[in-house]
Amino acid sequence: MLPPLTRPASSTEPFGRSVVISNEMRDRSRPGREGRGPDGTRQLLWGIDLGGTKIEVAVIDPDTPAEPVGRLRVATESQRGYDHVVGRIRSAVDQLQDATGLQRPRVIGVGTPGTTEPATGLLKNSNTVCLNGRPLGADLSLALGVDARLANDANCFALAEAVLGAARGRGVVMGLILGTGVGSGVVVHGRVLDGLHGIAGEWGHNPMRDEATPCYCGRAGCVETVISGPALERFYEARRAESVSLPDIVRRAGGGDAHADATLGRLVAKFGEAIAAVINILDPDAIVIGGGVGNVARLYGDETRAAILRHLFNPELRTEILRPTLGDSAGVFGAALLAR
Ligand SMILES: [Zn+2]
Repeated sequence: MLPPLTRPASSTEPFGRSVVISNEMRDRSRPGREGRGPDGTRQLLWGIDLGGTKIEVAVIDPDTPAEPVGRLRVATESQRGYDHVVGRIRSAVDQLQDATGLQRPRVIGVGTPGTTEPATGLLKNSNTVCLNGRPLGADLSLALGVDARLANDANCFALAEAVLGAARGRGVVMGLILGTGVGSGVVVHGRVLDGLHGIAGEWGHNPMRDEATPCYCGRAGCVETVISGPALERFYEARRAESVSLPDIVRRAGGGDAHADATLGRLVAKFGEAIAAVINILDPDAIVIGGGVGNVARLYGDETRAAILRHLFNPELRTEILRPTLGDSAGVFGAALLAR
């Protein structure tokens, strides 16, 4: 059982102070140089992917990310509350440190569900609701004895695919999450664009023309109510009176089911409209589509490019639209890259 977490008595007392002392103590007690492997040459990055059901911790060498130096998964157990989740993360990092024999770095990147409000340091918009309103970054810095650098999980996905994955080498990259929800991260020359409110890239709640389905956010006709996985499944169900998963809709479309075909046609047309509005503003070099809806092959064809062009303020579209290449690892790799 882990001891309870403590915080500085005064909000003006810097968290950084205990972090520095903690690292100095560790420096004295353990050999080796910070951020480097046993051979003393590699710059290793530590990342934590905090999900609603699992916590993944990994140590990667950015030159060879496909073979993490160390990697560990534990259950989040978020139903047991916020302090328990922080304790689970601390325990996972301790275990990985023991398993690898590496010295803990000064900075660890953390991907989170939801976003840290830059003005207050409190987490918001998380579907792991016990995290909302909590100073997760400060608490993790204290619990881990490091500078915990947080980013939204969509931002971590975008960062990983932009630096190590499908869009490697491109300057401005959007990493879309098209799944149960719709969001994205924006990476500019290898760095995440956070934005004043921490919401840069949140195109899922832009309004769409001719759409009025109420959204959980309190508005109506949001992109998410039209092209998320559940929205597409609802569209199909309304025509066939049958509840079918999106992968099955894709299979049925391939087998000649006209309603399934119409559902995917709607996805392509509405995706084109929604993303053209974003391209008009950001003009990215590449867009990587993650999430379950990102598996729909029609999103990567000429039909989608034509759908975008119908709404784009340009006669041609050179933006690359790419499938992700890092799979489930993108979250923890992106988190580790925050530590650069
Ligand atoms: Zn909305």
